[in-house]
Parts: sequence; structure tokens; C-alpha cells
Amino acid sequence: MNVSFGISSDVGLVRTGNEDSFLAEEPLFVIADGMGGHVAGDVASSTAIDAIEENRNQANAEDPQTLAGLVHEANAAIWARATGDSSLQGMGTTCTLVYIDGPRAHVAHVGDSRAYRLRAGDLEQLTEDHTLVARMVKEGRIPAEEAERHPQRNIVTRVLGAASDVSVDLLAIDLNDGDRLLLCSDGLNSMVDRGDIEAVLERERDPQRAADALVELANEAGGEDNTTVLVIDVHEDERRGSASRRSQGPPPPPARVRTDRDPLARSRGRWLRPLTWTLLVIALLGGGGWAATRWALDNSWFVGVDESGKVAIYSGIPEEVGGIELREKKTTTDTALQDLPEFVRSDVVAGIKVESLEAAHEKVQDLDGLASEFARKSEPERGGQ
Ligand code: CA
Repeated sequence: MNVSFGISSDVGLVRTGNEDSFLAEEPLFVIADGMGGHVAGDVASSTAIDAIEENRNQANAEDPQTLAGLVHEANAAIWARATGDSSLQGMGTTCTLVYIDGPRAHVAHVGDSRAYRLRAGDLEQLTEDHTLVARMVKEGRIPAEEAERHPQRNIVTRVLGAASDVSVDLLAIDLNDGDRLLLCSDGLNSMVDRGDIEAVLERERDPQRAADALVELANEAGGEDNTTVLVIDVHEDERRGSASRRSQGPPPPPARVRTDRDPLARSRGRWLRPLTWTLLVIALLGGGGWAATRWALDNSWFVGVDESGKVAIYSGIPEEVGGIELREKKTTTDTALQDLPEFVRSDVVAGIKVESLEAAHEKVQDLDGLASEFARKSEPERGGQ
């Protein structure tokens, strides 16, 4: 089989930098979507790509474990950097790797970036998202249609860099003449409907134009995240193959930033019911996913009330699960719940979910402002109490 490909990677319209990284060196194709805030996300994804590129000679299609091995090397490299530098703690990255071997392709995968195969007009998702929401769909707790808009859809449960080891999904698929593979970061599939992705891949025969068109669609839809798209065509006849590219090279350089992946979930805490969480946490623990769960909790934030009645910033989730507190207080403020206007108290008591520590500090400031305003307005009545 011959291969030609196109790549497009874009910061989008909201983020200040591009935390996605990629590698395209036939027959090896990789996408990594970094997270962990500002510099760290970029470091995570580019460290993964560097490690894979460095070790690529170990890849042997006869033994697909060697491909999982590349991902393990990437994990070890990120883990080593994260544990050696406190400013990089908590960074992580997805990693979706495709290795083309004649009429077959091997896929090694961790996280919520995706690999698809387009065959005869039909787009099939090859990889499973390692997210809380995908797990809930799989377990029948929510319908698949709810997943795309679910407030928790940004919580990734398996990433590189969260622990010293990681479990890597491995799969092999067959390739026919005319098949097209798509690798993408979630900036594409969170913004563009599957049907529209399929239509573009059908319409644009040139892989580079297809990749460009998909990124453009993501931006037209709001471009709320970084978007990276790799389109790989396999065909029996010989065509001029594309040169190898990687994200550090001259074309689209990667950058950073992607702490708040979910603009819909930015404002209010719409929490999963405690029972759902219990089941999820048990499922994750049962699946040996404690490090990932821990990681997910460390990267979830909310503003709530502490034991002294003061507004506080927490990492984790507000509910107790099976009697276990999945929260850690990070900062207490001087604002007391009593100082806040009635309409906002129940939200704070329930816990207001935010996307990052930075957003938590902003929320706390908002609340402090509300409290001052409330004090001014209600002074006469309160004076009599
Ligand atoms: Ca992303």
C-alpha cells in the first residue's frame, strides 16, 4: 500500500496557544493533545512526540507490543519531567499513534484524541475515548447523544503523564485500496458533527485540503479548542507521497494552553448524581484506574463552602462517594456564605464547578464582589437583625 497524507493544526479562536503536537513520518503517525495548563500542556505533548520519534526504530509491525512500547516510553518521559519539576506537575497528554504496515494498520491509543477509518463513505471510529462520559455511555448510564454535550465530557480518565505506567489500547485494522484514516484532537469532534466530518472527507479528495477544510470547520463552529487533523490515504497505485512532518517543524508550530476544554461547563455546577459517581469511581478503581481517577480529580475544580462557612476553592468534586471525600481544600477566602445574596448561596453550597484554578480565583472574586454589593444594599435591613 502507498500512503499520502495531509496535516493541519490550529490554535483555534479562543485559546492563546496550541497544546497539540503531532508526528507524521511514514509509516508512523501520531497526535498528542496536551493538558495541564499553559506551558505544561505543550511540554507534555511535545515530550511525547520527541520520545516516540527518538524510539521509533523500536517499532516493529510483527510485534504490535513494540508500538505500545513507544507510548510507554512517551509516558515515562513525561512522568520523569513532571516529577522532576514542580511547575510541570499535573501535566498530561493524550496519544493516538497509527503505524501502517501494508494492508494493515496498528493503533496504539491513550486518551480522547480519535482515530477513524473512512471506507466507502462510512466513517468508523476506531478508538475508544478514555473519558468519564464515554464510560457512562458504555455502561448504559447516559444515552450516546447526551455525551457530546455532557458537562463532564472534558474529564479524561487515562492520559500519559499521570503515573509511572499507563495502560495502552492496541488494535489492528485491515486497509483496503481507497481507505482514508483520520486522526484528530478533540478540538475537531467537540466542535464538528460526525456527519459533517464525514461529508468533508468524502468531498475533498486531496488529504491536505481535507485536513485544512476540517480545521476550518472547527473554527467556523467557534474554534473553542486547538484542533489538529491528520488525514492519511492508502492506495495501491503509486502517487507522490507527502514529506514527513512534525509539529516542531516549519509548518504549524505547536504551542500551549488548554486548561478549560469545556466552555459549556464553565459557569454552573451541574453535577453528576452521587450514585453515578460512586459507580464510576468503583468502576475506575476496579479497572486499576486509580492514578487516572486521582489525576482527573486533581484537575477538577469547584468553589464551595468550608467547615467554617467561608467560601473556599477545592480540587475534586463536591459529593462524597461511598463516604469518601473526593475533594481537597486549596484556598479559603474571607467571604462568608452569610455575606452572599440568597440567590447564589445554594449554588455555592452545592459547589460551583470551574475549569481551572485560575477560573476558580475569578469566581471567588466575583462572589466577593457580590458580597460587597449585597452588604451595601441590605445594610438598613440587616442593621435591625
Ligand atoms: Ca483538545
